[in-house]
Amino acid sequence: MSKKVAVIGAGFAGLSAATYLAKQGFEVTVIDKLKKAGGRAQVYNNQGFSFDMGPSWYWMPDVFENYFNDFGYQVNQLYELIKLDTSYRVFFNKKDAIDISSDWSKIEDVFESIEIGSAKKLNQFIKAAQQKYEIALDGFIEKPGISLLEYISVKSLMGAFQLDLFKSVKSLVASHFKHPKLRSILEFPVLFLGAMPKDIPALYTLMNYADLKLGTWYPMGGMSKIVEAMVKVAKNQGVKFQFGKVVQQIVVENNLAKGLIIDDELQSADIIVGAADYQHVDQYLLPKAYQNYTHSYWEKRIMAPSALLYYIGLNKKIKGLEHHNLFFDEDFEIHGKEIYDYPKWPSKPQMYVSVASKTDTAIAPKNCDALVGLIPVAVDLEDTPAVRKEYKNKLIHKIEKLTGVEIEPDIIFVKSYAHKDFIQDYNAYKGNAYGLANTLKQTAVLKPKIKNAKLHNLFYAGQLTVPGPGVPPALISGKIVAKEIVKLFQ
Ligand SMILES: Cc1cc2nc3c(=O)[nH]c(=O)nc-3n(C[C@H](O)[C@H](O)[C@H](O)COP(=O)(O)OP(=O)(O)OC[C@H]3O[C@@H](n4cnc5c(N)ncnc54)[C@H](O)[C@@H]3O)c2cc1C
Repeated sequence: MSKKVAVIGAGFAGLSAATYLAKQGFEVTVIDKLKKAGGRAQVYNNQGFSFDMGPSWYWMPDVFENYFNDFGYQVNQLYELIKLDTSYRVFFNKKDAIDISSDWSKIEDVFESIEIGSAKKLNQFIKAAQQKYEIALDGFIEKPGISLLEYISVKSLMGAFQLDLFKSVKSLVASHFKHPKLRSILEFPVLFLGAMPKDIPALYTLMNYADLKLGTWYPMGGMSKIVEAMVKVAKNQGVKFQFGKVVQQIVVENNLAKGLIIDDELQSADIIVGAADYQHVDQYLLPKAYQNYTHSYWEKRIMAPSALLYYIGLNKKIKGLEHHNLFFDEDFEIHGKEIYDYPKWPSKPQMYVSVASKTDTAIAPKNCDALVGLIPVAVDLEDTPAVRKEYKNKLIHKIEKLTGVEIEPDIIFVKSYAHKDFIQDYNAYKGNAYGLANTLKQTAVLKPKIKNAKLHNLFYAGQLTVPGPGVPPALISGKIVAKEIVKLFQ
């Protein structure tokens, strides 16, 4: 008889783990407290507008392609994926913006126009970033991170220096480029990994290759199309779903996880995958004696930031913005310190605004735009209506200042989203948005382990364990945990 697996959480990691396990013959059920799959990639619909509430950047298209290929599909059979050009716009000030094209020669031109000789250096830099990307994806990123020995055989360790594990992104970028604008463009992608460029191993300049060479993509209809595709593929493999069900407890008997308490009833399982936030599964669902880590361990983790988000329905088409827009008009050193070093609401934040309706007119009513504003903020801040109002005004003012376009009179509605919502919706530790920061001390074997040390049949997946935050890593996380389970139980 096939073994029963219960997966807690229908985010990208839970969906991925479930689908790989079902393919191997396990009887898999995914349980999620929300009404729909997708985890942090929920959709907010209002008055004909549709907003991606979480992820909006589709990078590393090869990871998605490989994922769906593993189940006999190609991405283009499941959703329409288009490459954006312009990839994104970076504002440094009013009337001072740079467009990052999907055309490499145009990127070279932009760099050269800002710093003479930088196009050549960019090519060297990106070549090294490509090597890192290829080494990482060819093994390194799929390691379960249980033991250091795993890494010894990886081509990667040929490796540790080529990978620049022991330099920071900041120092590597600085050794190639002088101009602050170029440095910000090259440092920006690692912000997805939840730490400052000075604290992230330069291995992660592989993200520059993903950004500038592989490009920025968009699934027509929004990021939820990926989720719908994953659910379809999962169901085809036989995965069952229970939505709107809160897992209250993991039951342990005779040193084995026996099942889950849902609606005060036991659902038995032979194997459990906790693909909700690791800290929640570990600290709230398990009896203390079986927790993988202590309260103080979690207190000492460096969490990736939370986010203060605004979903804005606008009664006009806004000029001056692209699909993705980065507002780098403030000093990120200060903003970064206010996220990590002395956490507080940022005095002069950098911001990100997406207008997906520029690409996808179907997600907003005719002649309207759907805007999402995002401000990265420290975790665990006091999230009050007054603060949300203050930053809403700052965001609107900033958009108006940098684009020179008035928007306030055309706003139909604004919905905000921050710490309290992340905790309520996702049981997010300290209200984090992006999981655990990918600092050197929290990389690979140094991340919370995918396997419970005391319960042979309890595993963890998702953005707080290997390989880290982001949608592509979450897909890979599910695959890693599934492989480990297959190895041990089949
Ligand atoms: C605002 C924002 C912007 C982002 N932008 C990007 C981007 O542009 N590109 C990118 O690649 N990544 C981005 N990310 C990161 C990316 O979205 C995440 O890394 C990824 O979605 C995490 O997936 P996951 O499966 O690990 O966890 P989650 O998506 O959090 O899934 C976990 C699920 O478990 C459920 N759950 C929790 N507790 C319980 C319980 N007790 N019982 C039942 N169910 C439970 C939760 O409701 C949730 O559905 C962004 C994230 C946020 C929040």
